[in-house]
Amino acid sequence: MILKEGDVVFEVPDKLTVTKKDEVFYNPRMKTGRDISVVIVQAFLNLYHKKDKFYVCDALAGSGIRGLRYAKELKFDGELKVFLNDINPKAYEKIINNAKLNEIENIEVFNEDANTFLSRHFRFFNVVDLDPFGSPAPYIDQAIRALVTRNGLLCLTATDTAALCGRAKKSCLRKYLAYPLFGRDCHEFALRVLVGYAMRMATKYELALKPVFCHATDHYVRVYLVTDRGAKRADKVFEMLGYVKDVNGVKIIRKFEEGYEKGFSGPLYIGNLYDKALVEEALRIAEERKCSERVLKILNAIKGESAINQVGCYDTHQIGKMLKISVPPMQDIINKLKEMGFEATVTHYNPKGIKTNTTLKNVIEAMYKC
Ligand code: SAM
Repeated sequence: MILKEGDVVFEVPDKLTVTKKDEVFYNPRMKTGRDISVVIVQAFLNLYHKKDKFYVCDALAGSGIRGLRYAKELKFDGELKVFLNDINPKAYEKIINNAKLNEIENIEVFNEDANTFLSRHFRFFNVVDLDPFGSPAPYIDQAIRALVTRNGLLCLTATDTAALCGRAKKSCLRKYLAYPLFGRDCHEFALRVLVGYAMRMATKYELALKPVFCHATDHYVRVYLVTDRGAKRADKVFEMLGYVKDVNGVKIIRKFEEGYEKGFSGPLYIGNLYDKALVEEALRIAEERKCSERVLKILNAIKGESAINQVGCYDTHQIGKMLKISVPPMQDIINKLKEMGFEATVTHYNPKGIKTNTTLKNVIEAMYKC
């Protein structure tokens, strides 16, 4: 069957079950994520990239929809080239046919194991995108090596949310060498565990990764990190890592250098997950491209979050349950907190979650005053 997504028309098998067993994988539910990917990579290109060549790698390409959209939709004055790879020979053929269907010529297509492919391209790509079945962990090391060492963009999708969100603790430890945090804001901690893991993988190469954007949507999480080089910068990464414990909705944070203590989760990233300028540029591009209401809603919520440095959020339903009170409308609580002189916003991953620069006590006071 022929489908259209963004500016790309493409063919996928008639019988799509959206499981690993499909002849060629395509999941229409990931469209929002791919729309956001195009917008974020464009924002990155506009703000971070100063050279005349821009090489993007879609290492686990499936039908090729993601890489082909980058090839067709990104706007760049210099040489833009996308390298698509998939281990499945049927996917490889499909990508070539889909490129022909759209008359896309600024691509190269490969049929290799992703790690083999990436390791053949040492410090070559400006962007490496990993969109696997489940966890990206098995490919992160080679992806880091395949990126340019300054202003390279690493994009990671993870669909193994049971592990990252804390329902499958052993799996999280196995894949990400970290204890996850299960709770109302577990999706944010999934992002923080994944970011922290990628950062730790990069330090041995004297590289510092910095998150610039991330989101938890539907059944997956997605993070974007930028490379920088130098041992000193890599050393500083550990200042942004730590361990977190949730005590009745309040987060206790231990620095990485203080070491692990039983009952804490981590190591995970405890800094700001966003580059404010990039978020604003992404929102501008998304509005210009007339992206869907859903994409704009996610980006707007994230714009609010990017201004507040809280690790996790306060879940108003959990507070309501604890105090045995009914929960006022979210916007009323946010307005009340602002009246009290604090910053406050709703999180993109939990419609009942508030991020604010004040204490739980003040959030409770705001709820009572509503
Ligand atoms: N990126 C695609 C999209 O946006 O629609 C979806 C990719 S799908 C989730 C994961 C793909 O990884 C599958 O097409 C699968 O054939 C491929 N794959 C699995 N193991 C691989 C490996 N070791 N090397 C390269 N490709 C692999």
